[in-house]
Amino acid sequence: MNSPAPAPSPATAKSSDFIRDIINDDLEAKRHEKVITRFPPEPNGFLHIGHAKSICLNFGLANEYREKLPSSGTRCHLRFDDTDPAKEDTLFEDGIQEDVRWLGFEWDGLYHASDYFEKMYEYGEHLISAGKAYVCSLSDAEIKEYRGNVTTPGKNSPHRTRTVEENLDLFRRMRKGEFKEGEHVLRAIIDMANPNMKMRDPLLYRIRHTAHHMTGDSWCIYPMYDYAHPISDAIEGITHSICTLEFENNRELYDWVIDNLIDYAKFPSRPHQYEFARLSLNYTVLSKRRLLELVEGKHVSGWDDPRLPTIAGLRRRGYTPESIRAFCASVGISKANSTVDMAQLEFCIRDDLNQKAPRVMAVLKPLKVVIENYPDNEVEELDASYWPHDVPKEGTRKVPFCKEIYIEQDDFMLEPTKDYYRLAPGKEVRLRYAHLITCTDVVKDAAGNVVEVRCTYDPEVKPGDNPVGRKVKGTIHWVSARHAVDTEVRLYDRLLSEEAPPAGKDSEFLNSINANALQVLKGCKLERSLSEANAGDSFQFERQGYFVADIKDSKPGAPVFNRIVTLKDSWARANKK
Ligand code: ATP
Ligand code: MG
Repeated sequence: MNSPAPAPSPATAKSSDFIRDIINDDLEAKRHEKVITRFPPEPNGFLHIGHAKSICLNFGLANEYREKLPSSGTRCHLRFDDTDPAKEDTLFEDGIQEDVRWLGFEWDGLYHASDYFEKMYEYGEHLISAGKAYVCSLSDAEIKEYRGNVTTPGKNSPHRTRTVEENLDLFRRMRKGEFKEGEHVLRAIIDMANPNMKMRDPLLYRIRHTAHHMTGDSWCIYPMYDYAHPISDAIEGITHSICTLEFENNRELYDWVIDNLIDYAKFPSRPHQYEFARLSLNYTVLSKRRLLELVEGKHVSGWDDPRLPTIAGLRRRGYTPESIRAFCASVGISKANSTVDMAQLEFCIRDDLNQKAPRVMAVLKPLKVVIENYPDNEVEELDASYWPHDVPKEGTRKVPFCKEIYIEQDDFMLEPTKDYYRLAPGKEVRLRYAHLITCTDVVKDAAGNVVEVRCTYDPEVKPGDNPVGRKVKGTIHWVSARHAVDTEVRLYDRLLSEEAPPAGKDSEFLNSINANALQVLKGCKLERSLSEANAGDSFQFERQGYFVADIKDSKPGAPVFNRIVTLKDSWARANKK
């Protein structure tokens, strides 16, 4: 496993990459005087951290060049690529907008591919009239068969020679709804022997008798992505149309569509498509189809399940927009696909929260400790700092101490090993901010488990003091039993137990789901101050990790906590073993 990269400094975060090089060249050569980008999600699911990479790039470019060219009209559009009415929904559009804003970006215009359906149809008629498109009436299976494959050229559809009049008539009747789905499609006339399969008379329109969430029943023919996308870009004046590498082969068709329409349509710009490497992360899945499968199969609680790499899931998990943007910057923009280590994302959230999350005490798996020589009804209000010395922040709270406290079960060992410096029979340990205690006895249940530890404290040593010459190696955290906030804590971990889900069949990745990705702990004991935590507040539970008050399930005075990330990379350690 690679060790995580250090977080980028603000300077390297904006360092150049091949896309910025292209844009700089274009501006220098005066091919463009402004930069217009777009983020074009299909509203058929929620965004994931892969989309965040594209969002940071597209909106980030607009922000940077707007600063350099203030009155140029540089901007970034949010455009819903809504050409497949069967899978799309306004619910997803709302979620996507919320996520983009949460990440810290604002669009300079909200568009839909469906805004241009009328134009696209008109351009379809134009292509037919120019002898560049025809209505094909082969079945889906025949179209596939006629297309050939990478080693065999395809053959022309028998309908390729239809006259312009016949094609126009059929296309108009397709629009009117005179045909069933699959009866006819509109195709470009390009080259059935082209080595690029995308160029073998690609489909431009298909019939779908399905209502659309934006256009309702107005249409029963819908444009294909490869036709709709370049036209939408061109109409909006996009200058740099950035997508992921799997669309490399689509670029030739993108150019064909633009080239064959630009004179007729008088587009405000000649957009170009550029491809960059998509983000892949280990121990998770970044594909809407697989995420949908997890959600619909109820393997997770919803699109915002904190185990998911969706933006909504990461937000609920306690990730900050800053940490995700820092992560995207640290990954960079390149032309080579690679898998990024989850540890790099976790590094970014630790790095951000280290400066932002107050330190508090919480006992997740409680073991009761009774301090026998401590006065029954006494309560000491001890000062405890929210911040460690290396975080330049100030702030303290009072933590109450009394006769009965809870410590972590792991911090007691009946028969301690040699290098165990925490509590054990006869051993002395320091309670963080409080007293030194020595274990004198234990209480066991019928099964022989230790259910209570009896101790004495040293009244001569003031709370938090470090007496000279006294060797107390271990310091443990604790919570006053009487003042504790009793709550549920969810320990989240990586979604998959394997680095990469098996390549094979689609649903096989479900077998790699990490059964320990969610552990629900009840009866956790939090220090008193946490009863005031608001939903969404994050903390470092000392010695345990970073935690956030769940934004859905926390109630005023009764927070429920999610573990965002452990303090150290436990996976790297486990892997080394
Ligand atoms: P998925 O592959 O998860 O189904 P998609 O590509 O179908 O996603 P779209 O809604 O079409 O999802 O994506 C919107 C934009 O986000 C596209 O420009 C796409 O290239 C980009 N994008 C999607 N996934 C990633 C990723 N993993 N890394 C970088 N960019 C991505
Ligand atoms: Mg897509």
